[in-house]
Amino acid sequence: MFGLIGHSTSFKDARQKAMDLGYDHIAEGDLDVWCSAPPQLVEHVKVVSAIGKTIEGAYIDSCFVPEMLSRFKTARRKVLNAMELAQKKGINITALGGFTSIIFENFNLLENKQVRNTTLDWERFTTGNTHTAWVICRQLEINAPLLGIDLQKARVAVVGATGDIGSAVCRWLSQRTGVSELLLVARQQQPLKDLQKDLGGGRVLRLEEALPEADAVIWVASLPKNLQIDKSKLRKPCLMIDGGYPKNLDEKFSGSGIHVLKGGIVEFFEDIGWNMMEIAEMDVPQRQMFACFAEAMLLEFENCHTNFSWGRNNITLEKMDFIGEASLRHGFSVLRLQPNNLQAA
Ligand code: NDP
Repeated sequence: MFGLIGHSTSFKDARQKAMDLGYDHIAEGDLDVWCSAPPQLVEHVKVVSAIGKTIEGAYIDSCFVPEMLSRFKTARRKVLNAMELAQKKGINITALGGFTSIIFENFNLLENKQVRNTTLDWERFTTGNTHTAWVICRQLEINAPLLGIDLQKARVAVVGATGDIGSAVCRWLSQRTGVSELLLVARQQQPLKDLQKDLGGGRVLRLEEALPEADAVIWVASLPKNLQIDKSKLRKPCLMIDGGYPKNLDEKFSGSGIHVLKGGIVEFFEDIGWNMMEIAEMDVPQRQMFACFAEAMLLEFENCHTNFSWGRNNITLEKMDFIGEASLRHGFSVLRLQPNNLQAA
């Protein structure tokens, strides 16, 4: 059985969802009430892959909302309680979706193995970042040529280059795709220099320096909402792959002739018959999902019950090959630019 741990995109959405599900007492509560609300297993689902393999899974809402990010103890408790519930339900492999994997890593939850009388078994969880990194790379490889961008001659900026997903994307783009030049963007300089050394190339730039030079930009950092970008200085065409969470680049570039693609999203080959992706605001919630969620499904399809994506900067090209091949075989495809997006230039 696979599991997905997720959360609503805002407190307002969470209340609406709780109301729809009949949890009126929680829906009406204020943020303090939500801070003490336990995780809920809201849905069970059965999925048959493109090669006929059947698996079962469950969606657990952690009852975390982004408004709780500044409440360190609450955020930590929400993630650990959801993981405990997944383990108690006997789920073999569970993906940490949305902010939950960031909270797990950044708040160092590895030190919190004991949750009440449950000893968490890390082998049962995955961040899903290997599949996310592979999907983002394929999205670039498939969509850039549709805009007339020849990747062998292109400069590709990776914003969040030193992160878990960003560093894997950089390795793939330099070794497999063969882009002309990588522009490496993050805030801390030493990890950038280390990455540049590992890659044997790439140029370290500040965001405002990299953007005007880039034919494509991969965003794999959670950036501040008020980030200002001078759209007039960007190249045209420019492909923006919005791999961060939440996905809010569309609004920043609307009407500017820049092509924005939601990054790290996959589509299953047929309707799944679940409601859980409506919470995640997918355009086609019956088929589309975050690649990190799909990784848990893929590991279950493959009987690979292990913490496949775990820790920071451990993603290898071989692991990306494995999960990418499984993704295609079981019926997932990566999200592409839509016709209205292709005409935006
Ligand atoms: P990490 O924490 O490992 O990496 C974050 C990266 O972003 C680091 O390189 C960090 O470097 C950089 N960064 C952070 N803030 C800024 C900033 N203001 N300006 C420039 N760089 C910045 O995160 P992950 O790799 O695990 O995840 C990356 C993003 O992808 C997250 O937003 C996550 O939510 C999202 N994600 C999306 C998924 C999907 O859509 N399917 C699935 C999983 C994750 P530094 O601190 O030095 O700036």
